[in-house]
Amino acid sequence: MKTVPEYFGSLVFDDRVMKATLSASVYASLKKTIDEGATLDIGVANAVADAMKDWALSKGATHFTHWFQPMTGITAEKHDSFISPSPDGGVIMEFSGKELIKGEPDASSFPSGGLRATFEARGYTAWDPTSYAFIKGKTLCIPTAFCSYGGHALDKKTPLLRSMEALNKQALRILRLFGNDSAKCVRSSVGPEQEYFLISKEMYDARPDLRFTGRTLFGSKPPKGQEMDDHYFGVIKPRVAAFMEELNEELWKLGILAKTEHNEVAPAQHELAPIYTTTNVATDHNQITMEMMQKVASRHGLVCLLHEKPFAGVNGSGKHNNWSIATSEGQNLLAPGDTPYENAQFLLFLCAVIKAVDDYQDLLRISVATAGNDHRLGANEAPPAVISMFLGDELTAVLDAIETDTPYQGIEKTQMKLGVHVLPKFNRDTTDRNRTSPFAFTGNKFEFRMLGSSNSIAAANIMLNSAVAESLKVYADRLEGVDDFETALHEMIKKTIKDHKRIIFNGNGYDDAWIKEATEVRGLLNYRTTVDCVPHLLDEKNIAMLTSHKIFTKEELEARAEIMLENYCKTVVIEANTMITMAKTQIAPAVERFAADLAKNAAAKKAISPALACFYEIGSIEKLSALTDRISIAVDELQSAVIALPGTGEILAEAETIRDVILPKMCELRLACDEAETLTDKTYWPFPTYSDILFSVR
Ligand code: ADP
Ligand code: MG
Repeated sequence: MKTVPEYFGSLVFDDRVMKATLSASVYASLKKTIDEGATLDIGVANAVADAMKDWALSKGATHFTHWFQPMTGITAEKHDSFISPSPDGGVIMEFSGKELIKGEPDASSFPSGGLRATFEARGYTAWDPTSYAFIKGKTLCIPTAFCSYGGHALDKKTPLLRSMEALNKQALRILRLFGNDSAKCVRSSVGPEQEYFLISKEMYDARPDLRFTGRTLFGSKPPKGQEMDDHYFGVIKPRVAAFMEELNEELWKLGILAKTEHNEVAPAQHELAPIYTTTNVATDHNQITMEMMQKVASRHGLVCLLHEKPFAGVNGSGKHNNWSIATSEGQNLLAPGDTPYENAQFLLFLCAVIKAVDDYQDLLRISVATAGNDHRLGANEAPPAVISMFLGDELTAVLDAIETDTPYQGIEKTQMKLGVHVLPKFNRDTTDRNRTSPFAFTGNKFEFRMLGSSNSIAAANIMLNSAVAESLKVYADRLEGVDDFETALHEMIKKTIKDHKRIIFNGNGYDDAWIKEATEVRGLLNYRTTVDCVPHLLDEKNIAMLTSHKIFTKEELEARAEIMLENYCKTVVIEANTMITMAKTQIAPAVERFAADLAKNAAAKKAISPALACFYEIGSIEKLSALTDRISIAVDELQSAVIALPGTGEILAEAETIRDVILPKMCELRLACDEAETLTDKTYWPFPTYSDILFSVR
């Protein structure tokens, strides 16, 4: 058997393979493209394509695909085989540089938010050489960006790459001011911690709601949930352990640095964290990880649920986006340094993030907005929908001291002056304690905790990179060319703290009193739902910032807002229709059958002895009958409301109706059905209950 180092990355056309299979000159120009974004000439592309094909064939591949991330949130691929007819009636295996660089999938059925007129069915995919090609099954997958013919981004990768470029440009300006002339580039890195549920396939198959919507739309609370906290970090069950082992192997072959795995808070909930890497690679890897989780689960008779809230009343699943920025020389710009000068630089980058999060709370909130995540944010388990930042007491005290020009107790009780004092190293233990903050400083990185488990991490990082790039631009514009750099720097840091300290909150984010203070005293935003926040993507300040850094065009932003609302509407309408069918064809008939049998029993008993009261039967029949009536009314009302949706035209109005009318009606239907579940003989219940599902895997 091969050891992990022997098979790690064996399905990836990575640097090791490039070095071994490309000529020195081809390798050098490809490296230049990867590292510095230099354009690739067709001769080099042909040579790379040829080497890639030979390598892929040696691994058993027969097809290639341009792998991309359209706005559906999942990845897309269209497979072409390498075969090309030869004059003698046989085939040869071919793959050209042109095919490597550019593809033309029929794009008409991907969401474009009106960017691609329907008559212009084609979009094109363009190779992203910064993310390695890999093999999945028998297919060589080439990571690509996806655009319309007019050049508009139709995917998540294009704006992500643009945001990394914007951050790079502005961060380098700052580094030069600090005398760093050697850093070639600055990149953001991410380590996403992925939560998920594993349930048995039998249970899944028996629940139309899970199959059609990824979450349960009915189900009363099980007698035992997560109260005992006995699942978190608990012993991993053998079936789950076998799944994790195989998942790790698959991910390692794909060069994905799967590192940590453990049980999560809820029964049947788990987490996987990779070692962090460059943001666009981390984004690709997270997409592959989610796909692999589902694939490997099915080989074990399991289903992996990635929905943000598969079970009401049980912790949902999120994704913690650990984010930092570092130079090409490996200096982490969010780590306090060893010298006073490095500390001043650290504080400036820290301030850039503080300013970015405060100025663009709305964009961060929007970047995690989906119908699924609405069930999580603001509930008592995930961060609230209000964005705030946790810095820890130590760092907050340092900032206070700077703002007020008062002595900081931690540093020899002297006045804090930048460029003079060495900051303490922030201990992970003191920075990592707060688990309720949406955005926490954890020693040398920030952890953005609002992402939903099924979200691509692209959107969150696009907004984060762009907003921080904007802060850095403001700083660089101000600092370039000043005579007294240190004084100007000190003043600017002070000003940032003064202007933006309202975003810093070290207390309990789940506390109701905090939400009140945040919104009423501090004036922070509280967009509770997707519908509340998405329109603000098009606020003037947001359009101005995102277009000025060339992350999005105005048209692209309009398209994205439209697609987000469209996805929201479609998701909830599918849920409503699934509920209607389940209530009508499964739940009501089951309750009815049980009530009829109770009636039969009561009649039989009374035939034996007319004096028998039959309290249980009659009492239950009365309650169940009232509930089936309630269910019937709720179903009709929900159905009428769904039919009344215009379905075309004003997407925002439709989304608002869904939020204000459809969702409450779904809630009412669920309440009636869940109550019926608690009164109905289990053998009559038409699908597995929460207890069955959550404790189905041993
Ligand atoms: P936890 O948050 O559960 O305590 P860790 O902090 O050890 O766990 O790591 C969480 C994730 O953060 C991992 O994916 C890890 O690779 C990532 N991470 C660690 N350091 C950095 C960094 N400097 N930049 C980005 N991500 C990082
Ligand atoms: Mg974490």
